[in-house]
Amino acid sequence: AHLDRIAAVDEKVHAFLHVDREGALAQARAVDAKRARGERLGPLAGVPLALKDIFTTEGVPTTCGSRILEGWIPPYDATVTRRLKAADVVLLGKTNMDEFAMGSSTENSAFGPTGNPWDLTRIPGGSGGGSAAALAAFEAPLALGTDTGGSIRQPAAVTGTVGVKPTYGAVSRYGMVAFSSSLDQGGPCARTVLDAALLHEAIAGHDPLDSTSIDAPVPPVVEAARTGSVAGLRVGVIKEFDGEGFQAGVRQRFAESVELLRELGAEIVEVSCPSFDKGLAAYYLIAPSEASSNLARFDAIRYGLRAGDDGTRSAEEVTSLTRQAGFGPEVKRRIMLGTYALSAGYYDAYYGSAQKVRTLIVRDFAAAFERVDVLVSPTTPSTAFPIGERVDDPVAMYLTDLCTIPSPLAGNAAMSLPCGLAPEDGLPVGLQIIAPAMADDRLYRVGAAVE
Ligand code: GLN
Repeated sequence: AHLDRIAAVDEKVHAFLHVDREGALAQARAVDAKRARGERLGPLAGVPLALKDIFTTEGVPTTCGSRILEGWIPPYDATVTRRLKAADVVLLGKTNMDEFAMGSSTENSAFGPTGNPWDLTRIPGGSGGGSAAALAAFEAPLALGTDTGGSIRQPAAVTGTVGVKPTYGAVSRYGMVAFSSSLDQGGPCARTVLDAALLHEAIAGHDPLDSTSIDAPVPPVVEAARTGSVAGLRVGVIKEFDGEGFQAGVRQRFAESVELLRELGAEIVEVSCPSFDKGLAAYYLIAPSEASSNLARFDAIRYGLRAGDDGTRSAEEVTSLTRQAGFGPEVKRRIMLGTYALSAGYYDAYYGSAQKVRTLIVRDFAAAFERVDVLVSPTTPSTAFPIGERVDDPVAMYLTDLCTIPSPLAGNAAMSLPCGLAPEDGLPVGLQIIAPAMADDRLYRVGAAVE
């Protein structure tokens, strides 16, 4: 049914870069056969899932939204892919994304944009716009994303779906193409809080193949999603993320969510996080710096595209021509920015200062979580904007990430879930919930209560 739905609507939505029809049917038949033999089935047996094209899949193309990886067939599965297969999930295919996860609208994909199923002329968010659109268009009931500065939560917000960035280190990064390694975190995307929790438990857990993977039990997120209560919980409203510059309908729906939390028995506390307004500037130095180093591996020798290799050119020339042809403008911009910020003479002023701001943000969170159990804010300052509106204005695009940036910088856990439609444009608004590291279950408890 989901393959039929994809065949019917994906020409318009363009959520998928690759649909693995044969592979999906084979997996579905294998689950049926297992069931017929009376074998023990995985926890998500037979449930179809759309995988962001940033996770390696053995024998199935993985492009990360880039021409430089066009034609590359990974020889191995990411840990997440392996866990999904072990859970007996049916992998439908790979979803569209901003090239190397750099963007907030999926317009930076080398393979063309994805439309927001609520209005195909609008963006589905980014970088994981394909995964969110696949859910909103009912092409898949579950999807996987990655969040470095908001790429799970912002697409969830603008498509009316649920997205969770787990605590940093909760989900293995092995086989997840690296953008900014100290921030990147894979996580679940779904249409309900409980679905997200079921997927969360399937993918999280220690992995010796990822040196930053947490070696501790996964918080009880499914149980929390089933409990869904906020009675007696202290909920902090982030003062800095509720005011000027936010769309009226976003503020209205957010205020109603806070009221609902109060009615359900939560204690509402206003919390100030004075360093959050510097988060965006710090992120856009740290993430490009790490990216400039991570993307050095795309050298025309190891993966995918090789341009200009006619037997007369040096390795340096071939590398340079390949990167010129294979990387899009945003990726080039980030590599240049990151290389500059890390260079001798500028390192202290730029990268060093950004790391100090990161520490201040960690301290803001620590102080806030002494007073409250979770924090809430709108996920994004506005609803989905029209395709093309911000693509030539990187700073306007970066501002979209205002509310989602602090969590990855601190490594804690955050969720976006739908909280109604903005009256002025009828488009979905997202409520963001943030919990301390390793308290991911609180997100699900609160999310399920207000869903
Ligand atoms: N929009 C942010 C960026 O462009 C975040 C992307 C992400 O989380 N991968 O970097």
